[in-house]
Amino acid sequence: MEDTVFMKIVKREIPADIVYEDAQTLAFLDIKPIALGHTLVIPKKPFENIFDIDDETLSAIMRTVRKISPAVRDAVGAHGVHINSNHGEAAGQVVHHLHFHIIPRHARNEFEFWPETDCPTPTSASEIAEKIREKIV
Ligand code: 5GP
Repeated sequence: MEDTVFMKIVKREIPADIVYEDAQTLAFLDIKPIALGHTLVIPKKPFENIFDIDDETLSAIMRTVRKISPAVRDAVGAHGVHINSNHGEAAGQVVHHLHFHIIPRHARNEFEFWPETDCPTPTSASEIAEKIREKIV
């Protein structure tokens, strides 16, 4: 399988503004930031997304997300961060190497987080909850 751009960054084949690295994870600035300081955290191994990653590597990624989030926030004088992650093309995942976005936010009114539309609910919440419980392995 051909390397994604993120594996090329891990291997230092293409440049990136790396802000943190440990044995299992790497954090670097997003090339097209939504906000100044927008940072990505990835595993060094090429897991695609939440559907194939193992618990231990995911824990390492979340440790890094927790470690650098305050630094990202404070480096740009922000008040909070979004921690966002897209899994699968249907959810907007473009780079097929698992990553978490850390996006600084300065004020509540600078973004519209959820669209103000009602989610159609042909199935009752209790039925959906039951289906999810059945699918958990
Ligand atoms: P996704 O939509 O897959 O969650 O987001 C992928 C992110 O990777 C985007 O925000 C995009 O700007 C970023 N990105 C794509 N290619 C590169 C690259 O070569 N270098 C860096 N630093 N970020 C990239």
